[in-house]
Amino acid sequence: MTLTTRILIAMVSGIALGSLLNLLSGLALLPEAWHAGIYAYLVDGLFDVLGRVFIASLMMLVVPLVFVSLICGASALGNNARMGSIALRTITLYLLTTAFAVTMALMIALMVGPGEGVSVPGNTDFAPQQAPPLKEVLINMVPTNPVQAMADGEMLQVIVFALLLGYAITRCGKAGERLTAFFRDLEAVIMKIVKILMMFAPIGVFALLSKLFAELGVTVILDLARYFLTLLAILLLHGFGVYSLLLKSLAGLSPAMLLYKMRPVWAFAFSTASSGATIPVTMRTVEKRLGGKVSVAGFTVPLGATINMDGTAIMQGVATVFIAQVYGIDLTISALATVVLTATLASIGTAAVPGVGLITLSLVLQQAGLPVEGVALIIGVDRILDMVRTAVNVTGDATVSLIVAKREGQFDQAVFDDPMADLEAPENPGNGRVSAPGAAS
Ligand code: ASP
Repeated sequence: MTLTTRILIAMVSGIALGSLLNLLSGLALLPEAWHAGIYAYLVDGLFDVLGRVFIASLMMLVVPLVFVSLICGASALGNNARMGSIALRTITLYLLTTAFAVTMALMIALMVGPGEGVSVPGNTDFAPQQAPPLKEVLINMVPTNPVQAMADGEMLQVIVFALLLGYAITRCGKAGERLTAFFRDLEAVIMKIVKILMMFAPIGVFALLSKLFAELGVTVILDLARYFLTLLAILLLHGFGVYSLLLKSLAGLSPAMLLYKMRPVWAFAFSTASSGATIPVTMRTVEKRLGGKVSVAGFTVPLGATINMDGTAIMQGVATVFIAQVYGIDLTISALATVVLTATLASIGTAAVPGVGLITLSLVLQQAGLPVEGVALIIGVDRILDMVRTAVNVTGDATVSLIVAKREGQFDQAVFDDPMADLEAPENPGNGRVSAPGAAS
């Protein structure tokens, strides 16, 4: 069985087991002692430990991998002066796709009316958190202490420092060449660790999802079904439709291959709800399976995880319309424009961790003059939607990375076209792997 299949099975069985436990406990079908034992030792015990270890092991690799890949990328590019153009293309694409995503979300939500007929709950004691203002984000991009930046996982600061270091390395002759060789070797080693960790993904994914759904249950969705389904549909439309169109039209690449190879990355994004924690897997997939060279992917993937959150922006669009409708407030054109602008800019400075979209939503609502306590209305279903939108976010990172890589000539078509790229036994043919797009059946 392929690793991807095992991860997907783990995902489905984790959701099933968690939901079952939640259902049994909700209906009080389990004897009290059993229930207490299962939740204490299994859900909050074993599953919690395995899930957290899994996330920690991913997070452990993020800073070293981002740092080393960026140096490799910048040093590979430093000589041909393409850095500026790559950075410009990448940032423009990231911002444009986000602005498009939130605009589309607003338009569809206005047509569907997810908040119509929902009444304002009596008490909504919700304390909004502040998103960092854009000015602060810009100032904070340059670290005063790079070691501190790494220790704190400040991704934009790490990116700036590593880019500068990589660029300087290309200007240092022989010393630079020695360092480049060292960092290339280090990148290969860290990538190997990613691969090793991916072997444990089925366990981690299963544990995370079982625990989450055992606590959450899926019935919360019913209360907000219209909001949930509208948002889910737009996320899927963007994740499958818009990115496919972009990939085909801007890079002439097959969307089917991208979607096929992204499946394990989605499982990681879905179960961790963090595009930051998923960076190692996104990076490995873009480089080794999809053919983006480190010179581009080393820069675009970590940058994307940090500043590109289309799924999050879509949630903000739908949530804004939902909240406005529940509170009976008409959204003016200028309020809508504010939502687009704020949602796009807010995604730049916020960390790619679970639930961060709610923080930026507070900012968006505030700017658009809507009641911030409206956030409380959607918190119940947000975790599940967070998982889906994180999968959309990482798909956006991979798509833009491939478009830029292709257009900059930093792309390996043979790797992209090979459904088996970077797969070793037991994923090789003859071991029951599923058929891939383009593969001979
Ligand atoms: N969890 C999302 C991510 O890491 C951000 C969010 O929408 O909350 O990409």
